[in-house]
This record gives sequence, C-alpha cells and structure tokens, in this order.
Amino acid sequence: MLDDEESRSLLEILELVRSGQAVTRPDLARATQFGRAVVSRRLDQLLELGLLGEGDRLSVPRGRSPRGLHFNTTSGHVLCADIGARSMFVGLADLSGQILVQVSIEHDIGLGPEQTLKALCEEFDKVLVTAKDAGRQLWGVGLGVPGPIEHATGLAVSPPIMPGWSDVDVRRRLQERYGVPVWVDNDVNVMALGELRGGTAMNQRDVVVVKLSTGIGAGLISNGVLHRGAQGSAGDIGHVKVSDDPTIVCRCGNTGCLEALASGWALGRQGQELVDRGESPFLLERTAGRPVTGDDVVDGALSGDYSCMKLMNDSARLVGDTLALIVNFFNPALILLGGRLMAAGDAYLATVRNIVYSRSLPLATRELVIGKVGLGSGSALQGAAALALHEIFAPEYFADWAGSRSVPQLLPTAS
Ligand SMILES: [Zn+2]
Repeated sequence: MLDDEESRSLLEILELVRSGQAVTRPDLARATQFGRAVVSRRLDQLLELGLLGEGDRLSVPRGRSPRGLHFNTTSGHVLCADIGARSMFVGLADLSGQILVQVSIEHDIGLGPEQTLKALCEEFDKVLVTAKDAGRQLWGVGLGVPGPIEHATGLAVSPPIMPGWSDVDVRRRLQERYGVPVWVDNDVNVMALGELRGGTAMNQRDVVVVKLSTGIGAGLISNGVLHRGAQGSAGDIGHVKVSDDPTIVCRCGNTGCLEALASGWALGRQGQELVDRGESPFLLERTAGRPVTGDDVVDGALSGDYSCMKLMNDSARLVGDTLALIVNFFNPALILLGGRLMAAGDAYLATVRNIVYSRSLPLATRELVIGKVGLGSGSALQGAAALALHEIFAPEYFADWAGSRSVPQLLPTAS
C-alpha cells in the first residue's frame, strides 16, 4: 500500500501524461511542484507498473533529446453495461474509456434481478471471449441501472421499475463472478459521466444532463465533478410534483409527479387514452389493438399527427417548467437533453428552451446553453466505463492497486 502523498503524486503525473499536457520528463518537471528527482522516481514507478510507456527520442532544437511519454491505455480493461428498462448495452473499454467491443440485446428489466443478471453475465462472457487477451487484464466493472442507487452500497432502493431488486447485492454478485471490483450507479448519472468524459460536457464545470426516456431523471455535474448528494439520489427530478390532480398516480406511489405526466410511459398511457377515444389516426393505425407505447407517440409526433404532437408539446412544457426551477437553483452553464423522447426532433428541444429562458432569472440564463447529449445512445455505455475508471484512478483505490500491483479483491469503501 502506498502512502497518500505518493499515490496522489503518481496520479497527478499520470493525469498530465494521459491528458497530453506533458509529453516529456522536462514537461513534467515544469508542470508539477515535485522537482526533478521526485518526478523521475514517480515516472519510473509508473513505467514499471505498465501505466506509462516511453517511446523514441523527440527532436528538439538544442540539448539532449528527451523521450516521448505515453499512457498505456491497453494495460488494463473494464467491463461496462447500461441496463435500460427494455434493453441492455454491454461492452469492454480500455483505460482511456474507449469502447473496444460492444453488444446490445432487448431485455425487459421487469423480468426481475435473477433473469437480468443471468442475461448480463452471458453478454459479459461473450464480450470477454470476443476481446480475447484484453479480457484477461480486467480491472473492474461499471454498471448503470434504471433506478435509484445508494452510492455507498451500490444497492437499489425502492426502484419503481425494478421490482425485486432492493435486496440484491449486484456489486458482490458480479465481483464474485469476475474477481474484480464493481461499481453501480443510476442510468442518468452514468449518462452524465459519459458526456463529461467524452461527450458535449467535456471540460465543462456546471452541467445538468437530463434523460427523457421511459422515466425522467437528471445527472448534476458541479464544478467538474458528478454531484450525487448525501445518499446518491441528487437530480431525481422525475418525482417532483407538477400537478395537483389526485388521479394521476405515478409508479413511485405518489400522485402528480413529472414522470407520471411527461415521461415515455406517461406518453404511452396518454396515447392509449387517445386511441380509446378514437382521436389519433396515426396511433389507431400503428397499434391496431396492441397497447400504445411512448415510442409510438414520439413517432406519431414526427409524422405530424396532431394529437401526438400536442402530447409531446405538453411533455416538453412540463419538463421546461421543472428545468427552469433547477436553473434558478443550480445555475448550470449547460443543459443536455437525451433519451428516447429526444427522437421527437427539434420541436421538443425548442419548447423546453423557450420555457426555461422565459421562466428563469436573466442572470442564470445569460450564458446558459441548452442542447442535446453528444454521444447519443452510446453515452450511457461510455459513462459506465467512466464510472469504473473514475473509481480505479481515485487516490484511495489506486494506492491499494499500485502498492500491491494486483487488482484488490475487496471492494473499496465508496467515497
Ligand atoms: Zn413519482
């Protein structure tokens, strides 16, 4: 086990090389406060650990040419997965977070934890076979799930669309199977981490990433770091009350929640009401007797069906109202909207923008940008990889790893 200072200085040097801010030993000596001797010692440690590599001598105008340093992105790998309400994306990423292998399957999370974990492990195993040698240097697993997760334990807490998951220790189950630590977070935080690492939120400090799919939630990035709150439920805006109507019952058991009126499943319910009244020609023809889904309403709006367009507009207005409140409270520089509802096109985004700009304080919106997530459906998978990598390169964990030079068998204490 390394001491705290040693671990932090190793990580600082690693980060300077990883981010491209330093390419040579003299660069590092200039960019840090450590002095040449310490830089040289730490660098030797990182080279020995296989995290950094030293290449050819670079040509410089005068003096002795230094060797170029690079981050060995393939010295370790992480398994990553984004489990949605109805589908599952599974992959393997290198230490830079780049997804090397990716598969996706249809899977209904309502089938319960046992069947879902079985399907997940089958996909993980396939990915490891496809990745051949890469799979042998497995350092961790990152997992996004569509429900509230207590950050310290990784346990789902009363997840509305994940019945039966409350008592299942997903982290321990996967850790026992793959022999590496596992981190779990909700799908929206994972999406925000993906955008922060490789999407539109890169190099941004105060961002709200909103996922508008079967459910609704937000991931908050504050001062460049994901803000989870005391227990891990920060940004759960889907259950903010937006209506006094007692007949609108949400999946969480309360009434009048944003999610019960504006999410994909709410749109499905409202679309069904249109069909029952014979009001939407598009939905009547499209569904021909089967239950209406949120995706049907999105497609209806895209095709110009008036009733579907109105439902989408109402959804966008409610989301805009809620975000205006968040903007006044949190003052983000950037709001990114993602998820299945964004397939409805730019009309949805335009309505959200109008409401937020007209309902928030001028100072809060002066430099506010509202746009779409950059990575699309890939952001959650990249985010799941980012979740694991973020924890692996956290000082406490790294000290353990670099000190013993093997993947710690025990889960580190969550910060
Ligand atoms: Zn609710």
